[in-house]
Amino acid sequence: SKPVSTLIVASSRLTLHDESLFFDVTKLEGKVAVITGGASGIGEATVKLFVRHGARVIVADVQDEKGKTLCAGLGSDDVASYVHCDVRLESDVMRAVDTAISLHGKLDIMFNNAGIVDPSGSSILGEDDTTAVFDRVMGVNVLGALLGTKHAGRAMVAAGRGGSIIITASLASVVGALGHPVYSCSKHAVLGLARSAAAELGKNGVRVNCVSPSVVATQMTVSLFQANEEELEALGEMISALKGVTLKAEDIAEAALFLASDESRFLQSRDCIGRNGMRHEGAEMV
Ligand code: NAD
Repeated sequence: SKPVSTLIVASSRLTLHDESLFFDVTKLEGKVAVITGGASGIGEATVKLFVRHGARVIVADVQDEKGKTLCAGLGSDDVASYVHCDVRLESDVMRAVDTAISLHGKLDIMFNNAGIVDPSGSSILGEDDTTAVFDRVMGVNVLGALLGTKHAGRAMVAAGRGGSIIITASLASVVGALGHPVYSCSKHAVLGLARSAAAELGKNGVRVNCVSPSVVATQMTVSLFQANEEELEALGEMISALKGVTLKAEDIAEAALFLASDESRFLQSRDCIGRNGMRHEGAEMV
């Protein structure tokens, strides 16, 4: 009939992100989220997507100007608020969680996304100050995610309404990263963190999951790969190995949205051993 054919013509012009015209766009209505590393890249795309889906968001980052500008561009203070938060500092992470609770009365979603990488071309045998690189990268990527999980977890368990904690892992969580040994260590580590936290917090209805991007063009990768032609080539090969699909920050934000929303309520890591060394069975939510 005429109305239906009109609809089909219109839909052929739409991009993926215009789906909001047809589908429910409020998957996070009434939810409150903290997003670390929210001022840039994957975090920034996630802030925008979560707000579009009805969430109120606390952007926690160390890039103050960028974070404030992002929040100002999203409307009133009520929608997105910026908090300076170096995720390596427990007091900063506590402040980010407390801000969500004091502004909005609760915290439903914690996206532990802040991350950095070791200098391009780092080597196990190299001349870099290994201890300094280790402290910096593990501090942001692992300690930051641990502190975020701890304080969000405490708030969620105390409130008794469950919640969703998401950590940005990486392809480098499951394979090595040549030239970035510490980064790969850090991203392997967060899988263990997520599995342990999932088992402990699952009993209280708090889900803990990771999103693991391969390569996405962001501030981090652009500055990294521009510095080194060989790595750019390797990046190209890796992307074509993924059947020519080039991921965008917005694609990772969609995965985070799924994990944050009630659509993923049955998804929870089960891989954990208990105190007696046997497989832990207490946190089954699947
Ligand atoms: P990005 O550089 O655009 O964003 C990282 C954000 O983290 C920045 O806003 C930065 O200011 C913030 N940050 C850095 N140190 C911080 C600290 N101490 N405290 C708080 N915030 C801090 O890069 P991105 O690619 O969007 O990275 C986001 C996450 O995605 C990281 O965990 C990264 O490891 C992971 N990741 C990225 C890729 C990729 O290809 N881009 C692939 C896999 C995983």
